[in-house]
Amino acid sequence: MKSSSTGPHDQRCLYPCGRPLLEFPSPLRLIVLGVTGSIGTQTIDLVKRNPDKLQVVAVSCRNRVSEMVSILAELASACPDHEAPLVAVTDPAAHAMAAALPGVGARLLAVGTTGLLEAVTEADNAHCLVNGLVGAVGLEPTLAAAERGLRIALANKESLVVGGRLVVDAVRAGGAEVLPVDSEHAAIAQCLSGRSEEEIGRLILTASGGPFRETGTEELVRVTLEQVLDHPTWNMGPKITVDSATLLNKGLEIIEAHHLFGLPYDRIDVVVHPGSIVHSLVEFVDGALLAQLGTPDMRLPLQYAVSGEKHWPLETGRVDLLETGSLLFEAPDPERFPCLRLAREAGVAGGSAPIVLNAANEVAVAALLDGRIRYVDIAHIIEDSLATEGPAEVKDLATALAVDNQARRTAAGHIDRRSVAGE
Ligand code: MG
Repeated sequence: MKSSSTGPHDQRCLYPCGRPLLEFPSPLRLIVLGVTGSIGTQTIDLVKRNPDKLQVVAVSCRNRVSEMVSILAELASACPDHEAPLVAVTDPAAHAMAAALPGVGARLLAVGTTGLLEAVTEADNAHCLVNGLVGAVGLEPTLAAAERGLRIALANKESLVVGGRLVVDAVRAGGAEVLPVDSEHAAIAQCLSGRSEEEIGRLILTASGGPFRETGTEELVRVTLEQVLDHPTWNMGPKITVDSATLLNKGLEIIEAHHLFGLPYDRIDVVVHPGSIVHSLVEFVDGALLAQLGTPDMRLPLQYAVSGEKHWPLETGRVDLLETGSLLFEAPDPERFPCLRLAREAGVAGGSAPIVLNAANEVAVAALLDGRIRYVDIAHIIEDSLATEGPAEVKDLATALAVDNQARRTAAGHIDRRSVAGE
């Protein structure tokens, strides 16, 4: 039997593998953070399709107030029996705008992260947080939901990348549960249905390979932002689409899987699977391999999480095996996709390293979207930032946030130096 790099206490999955899920009355009362984003709008779609089973009690957006207002108006007409949800707007200017809106002002929470935390703590009888926030900003609401003992439908992988053990401990202490929304981890959860964690041998995460799966090293230097944002199979927000092009997203998912399923890194593998039909696999200790297949539609993993791991009816595309023909798998190329290696190394190093990795990437991706750096610079900025910020221990939230802040400044410095150098 392979040895584990973690102690006996860590052997227990954060994911409730083989354990009963929390029970909630119907309809399940949802807090939807990031309601104007890809995860948020798809959650609202599920609520409209299942108004007897799901209800929204609080939402948040950053600055897309008018989009949020129309989402809420459509929700109200689809679900006339549901009361209007509380509203958090984090951007100060957008918050002021929302405060002036007659239908919204009365239900508006505080500005900034405080508003996100109020959405989690003040929504009446909330049962479930759907965390669809992008980036490290998702960590504190996850911790607040953990303390409140909620079901956490987690699409914000940064909660586990940045929070790590803090989240694991808070979920256990608060009697909460984390059900993954990330399609790969939701696939693993489906493969683990009715299993115990002692049966798990190895996890295999699939990666689509992104738009540059077959692009040569020299060509990668010249790819445009448009090409970066043109994902072959999944339709997602811009940040995660960039992360999918660098494979940094798959690296974050390795770290996410490590914390969720309590496995050491040498038992979490990645294969490139361009069709995005096999969403991930579990190899059991007897060598049996289970996979979950489906069309690339985030509503499936979302619904599996919020429903408490039920297969409710869902009108979505069906996989036609005869049309699919064969399934292609290949090894990821560490030379062309250094972000995957950097993420795995940061995960193994632990402590502050995953926080620095994530912060540097967030800053680098923002710079790419602003047209300030090239696609290939992202990996350099992450690597330089990890080299500048030595490893440190992270015992509490304050330390995690301080490391995150410092790493963002460091990454910004590396970006400026690259811009000045005219690279
Ligand atoms: Mg994913």
